[in-house]
Amino acid sequence: MDFTPVSGRDMPRFAGIKTFFRLPIAPVDAAYDVGLVGVPFDGGASYRPGARFAPSKVREVSSLGRGYHMTRELNWVERLKVADLGDVAAVPVSGEETYRRIETFFDALMAHDKRFIAVGGDHSTTLPVLRAVARKHGRLNIIHFDAHLDTYPAAWGQEYHHGAFMRHVIDEGLADPAGVLQIGIRGPLATGDDLDFTRVNGVTVTTVDDLRIGGLEAFIARLPAFPDGPTYITFDIDCLDPAFAPGTGTPVPGGLTTYEVQRILRALKIGNLVGGDVVEVSPPYDVSDITALAAVDVMFEMLAQMATRA
Ligand code: MN
Ligand code: MN
Repeated sequence: MDFTPVSGRDMPRFAGIKTFFRLPIAPVDAAYDVGLVGVPFDGGASYRPGARFAPSKVREVSSLGRGYHMTRELNWVERLKVADLGDVAAVPVSGEETYRRIETFFDALMAHDKRFIAVGGDHSTTLPVLRAVARKHGRLNIIHFDAHLDTYPAAWGQEYHHGAFMRHVIDEGLADPAGVLQIGIRGPLATGDDLDFTRVNGVTVTTVDDLRIGGLEAFIARLPAFPDGPTYITFDIDCLDPAFAPGTGTPVPGGLTTYEVQRILRALKIGNLVGGDVVEVSPPYDVSDITALAAVDVMFEMLAQMATRA
């Protein structure tokens, strides 16, 4: 199987059948290195819906994706075999059944020793993905980009929603709390008590103030390294300012710029990136596809990171 994307110089980028990065579609047991997977479920969203449409929209916009990374001076297309594995068959009326199907899908990926990037879906979809990844790799380091802590309590009597995934990840022992780094966090919060969970568990929380006061270069220089241990990046697009990512479920003003995120992703020292996801893109609230394009760019940076290790 040839894992080369369709060239924009042969078939124009606005033409052709839409797959992630114009890559071939492959079954889970094919001979690729990194699988790109859609997880179209937004039943965990507490405010704006629409993330169920993200995999489809991100595929369309990823026609603009390329292989060569100018800063890293490498082409992930040449170093990695990457394929579009299609979508998990989510069940729009059942979170429970959807999470079960997500676990089954990613258990299969793990059984074939694959790396992946998942495209959500709301952030609740990350929990079942991480259950499968931790079953394979053990306790993870997690780099968590988000405006929100996602360690919030149950809502409407429901434990599983997009603002609680990280609490469950830590309570279920899927991550080493000392290996969890949050980036882009900002208020407002419902209550100051919402800060207790990360404090008590020893999660490293960095805010937009931590980046802007003192500046980007100093912030990057202080980032912890992840030289060993299985490491995962979960990227909630709402870590970006709504000016850069308006199409999201729970926008929060005062966020990161797309460029700051690029610089942070390039600076992270990760020895073993086992997987990642981009979540909370809501195409119905997007403007000119800029949020979907930001998601494509994050996927590009993750692929380049994986190619750097390879
Ligand atoms: Mn989130
Ligand atoms: Mn968020």
